[in-house]
Amino acid sequence: MANLKLSHIYKVYDNGHKAVNDFSIDIADREFIVFVGPSGCGKSTTLRMIAGLETITAGDLLIGDTLVNDMEPKDRDIAMVFQSYALYPHMTVYENMAFGLRNRKMPEAEIKERVLKAAKILDIEDYLDRKPKAMSGGQRQRVALGRALVRDPKVFLLDEPLSNLDAKLRAAMRTEITALHKSLNTTFIYVTHDQVEAMTMGTRIVVMKLGYVQQIDTPMNLYNEPYNKFVAGFIGTPQMNFFDVTLKRDHETVTVMFANGDEVKVPYENVSKIQSRYLNGDVPVIFGIRPEHIRVGKEGPGLKFVVTNVERLGNESIVYGKLGDHLGEFTMKDEGNGIVAKVIDRSDIEVGDIVYAEPDPDKVHFFDADTEVTLMDKIPPFNSVEVQTDGIRMNLLGNNVALPEAFGSAIDGADSFELNIPPRAIVPGNDFALRVARIEKVDNKRLAYLQNGESYLFALVGEEVHEGDVYKFALENEKLDLSVNGTEVLKAIEDEVSLLGTFSKREVRENHERVLHFFYNIGDYVLEAAPEQGYKINAIDGDNCYKYTYRFVTDRNAVRLANEDEPGLDCNVIGYCNYGNISFAKVEAGGQEFLIKVDQLFYADKVRVAIDSSDVSVYSTRIDMKIC
Ligand code: ADP
Repeated sequence: MANLKLSHIYKVYDNGHKAVNDFSIDIADREFIVFVGPSGCGKSTTLRMIAGLETITAGDLLIGDTLVNDMEPKDRDIAMVFQSYALYPHMTVYENMAFGLRNRKMPEAEIKERVLKAAKILDIEDYLDRKPKAMSGGQRQRVALGRALVRDPKVFLLDEPLSNLDAKLRAAMRTEITALHKSLNTTFIYVTHDQVEAMTMGTRIVVMKLGYVQQIDTPMNLYNEPYNKFVAGFIGTPQMNFFDVTLKRDHETVTVMFANGDEVKVPYENVSKIQSRYLNGDVPVIFGIRPEHIRVGKEGPGLKFVVTNVERLGNESIVYGKLGDHLGEFTMKDEGNGIVAKVIDRSDIEVGDIVYAEPDPDKVHFFDADTEVTLMDKIPPFNSVEVQTDGIRMNLLGNNVALPEAFGSAIDGADSFELNIPPRAIVPGNDFALRVARIEKVDNKRLAYLQNGESYLFALVGEEVHEGDVYKFALENEKLDLSVNGTEVLKAIEDEVSLLGTFSKREVRENHERVLHFFYNIGDYVLEAAPEQGYKINAIDGDNCYKYTYRFVTDRNAVRLANEDEPGLDCNVIGYCNYGNISFAKVEAGGQEFLIKVDQLFYADKVRVAIDSSDVSVYSTRIDMKIC
């Protein structure tokens, strides 16, 4: 078994450069994982941390069930193949492949058996007596693979192994490495900057940018459902087209409006997961469409463009063009008005033609203009709902219900507001009822489309709910965001409480032994830390750890009113948030404010707050990083 688990892995180099941020992935046995992204995004650093060639600044790396952060590379049962084959020039192929095994003092007979077996798999049996310089690049790369193969490792790590080869050989070696993976039944982790390599080889791909994971998914999901504009543009050639647009909904149709005044229509059904606030015609949105999803016609409808170049590749052609300006005229100077389409069997399209591009309405992508994140998440992060109120009651989802006190004080007399309802805040209950128009399976979850007038409310439901049912539910009010005229006035209460504090240690004698105890100090409140957390903080920050400030994060349910005589953090009560179904006191201690769950009728000036410390996460405030 060679499953790997990377949990909140960070790498900060000695010069302070943060090369990898919060990298987490569970890799199953026998997967072929590809790390892909532009040069400098942290792919090799991550691979080298897995290999043990680079220390891990924070986070846990498990191979099988063993924590290997501090394990020597040679003990990790991993083999690595590099871009530069790093073969010894004075040794024969056989000697190169045997070298590592001889170093490990393996009996010569077993070495021979392993080398011959690997040579057979890689088809280099005839070259075993040659020296590397008498071999081609492809053959040398095979020897490099062979040197890894003979070790019979649990995990293969490959760092751009094909980038020194020419295009044709690269394609051939791609196929060979994929076949090798299938025959070996071993876990492969492969680093490349080439998206074609990633798409053709990986069972799952990790797309990285500037040290951050952008998306982890199968090749087809990356292509069909890119999480953001970066992934959308990185995967696929020629690149996806992007345009600045606004969207306007009119019942069943959404009009995509381009800067030059051109329009494209898309059925609302195709984009129903986009929040309604993007569909009013005034919020900037990025429209994405792949070249292969554009039909080019001599007649409209579609986006009129002038053909500036045609690349004929046999049965398909790549057509390059420029959209017209707002007067419908074509100037070559404009930036951001280029369009690329991939068409089949179209010898009739010539440079200079004025033609029309019709995007396939089933293949459209939309991204937020600021965050560049998709507006068509598989599970929408929010449902936006308009609410009317008279200050006492509110009209929500067709029902007239009491306005929670917390909402009333946040809206400050406004007679309407917008609620952002995350699907997870919709729970079975008796307050509302909507018909289930559709149920979609998303990974292992069931997403219900609840018919809410002309729109949908998206909820996650259990197996007992079916299409056509009337679903009865309640809202967890404290999980909703509330805005008045587009300005957020009340934020959902987070599931976690975050408090700043310091770290300390104390040495005590226990049964004639000196034992170290570690503590988190929040104001005067002293919480004992788990010893393994204490040692970890100490390992990362050295003796400075007793001087630094840390952020301690814990589940909100672990923060509670202290029992009588129990130690805790003494706080002033500065307000209350009553959501109707649940209530919180807003408290303050040493300038830090936070919320604590209380009974509906609770009232006090001062409280003592205790934390059940079994599950505290610790973040460095010096460099934003989860330590443990
Ligand atoms: P990739 O493999 O994606 O090209 P790397 O993992 O090699 O990227 O590098 C990620 C970032 O870390 C880059 O900005 C690189 O300059 C930096 N980096 C790599 N090695 C070191 C080092 N030893 N010291 C400081 N910075 C480094």
